[in-house]
Amino acid sequence: MTSLTPQTRVTPGLYVTATPIGNLEDITLRALAVLEQADFILCEDTRVTGKLLGRYGLRTPLKSYHDHNAEKVLPGVIEKLKGGAIVAQVSDAGTPLISDPGYRLVREARAAGVDVWPVPGASAALAALMGAGLPTDSFYFAGFLPPKQGARQNQLEKLSSLKTTTIFYESPRRLPACLADMAAILGAREAAVCRELTKLYEEVRRGPLGELAAHYAEAGPPKGEVVIVVGPSLTVGGDDDAELVSLLRRALKEMSLREAVATVTFMTGRKRKQVYQQALELAEADDEGR
Ligand code: SAM
Repeated sequence: MTSLTPQTRVTPGLYVTATPIGNLEDITLRALAVLEQADFILCEDTRVTGKLLGRYGLRTPLKSYHDHNAEKVLPGVIEKLKGGAIVAQVSDAGTPLISDPGYRLVREARAAGVDVWPVPGASAALAALMGAGLPTDSFYFAGFLPPKQGARQNQLEKLSSLKTTTIFYESPRRLPACLADMAAILGAREAAVCRELTKLYEEVRRGPLGELAAHYAEAGPPKGEVVIVVGPSLTVGGDDDAELVSLLRRALKEMSLREAVATVTFMTGRKRKQVYQQALELAEADDEGR
């Protein structure tokens, strides 16, 4: 097994441990130390976590823990923890509790006076944000949208006033319909579809929501797992080029080029010449696209 750093001391308690989202090498030395020294590991699917343990030659016992058996399994786990056990909890991939099981376990362990230690690592949400090229100063994690169209549209309406980048998990099957709703409700924003992150067929497709929606309407659902990252809505005075483009796109839909330039110059406080140049490029690109 990989040699461990001398600082890694695993004392009794619950270790909420992040695991890779694809590439098995994206695991921390500390996570390996915890997984090795735990009395047992709570995991969603013993086959999935078994594969990770096999890759690192670990033989720690696995116990299944997921939303459907939590009621039954929790009391016994809390008793073991109170008795001084070292328990690691993992999900199939990424960070537990982030659209994955674990919240109840952590809450009840804390209520029972047990030490709880987060062992951070990969998460698809942050990996997508890292590669999307969209503003990162402030972001909102929206998790999965409701699968039914009406509920999804309602949720998007609620999110539409957010002035931050928003991160969504989505199933590839629903991606085309979801992007179409996003383009209709969230408007002309820059976005990225981040697929199969850290895996062989990793891909980030970047563009305005309308273009992404059109692409997947034609191409159909992609293979693998996806995260959608959507840039912020109209904000005043931002520095980011994506934001200027987004503001101009919206303005150009509703007014003449001259009016759009005046409005966006006023909103952003940027130089009129810069806004005019960007507006011209967008108008020309639009003309070519027709
Ligand atoms: N807890 C996990 C985490 O921290 O990333 C997320 C679990 S959630 C049940 C699974 C969703 O995460 C997938 O539907 C997809 O949206 C996203 N996801 C997980 N792995 C991914 C990957 N390698 N590439 C893109 N998206 C991924």
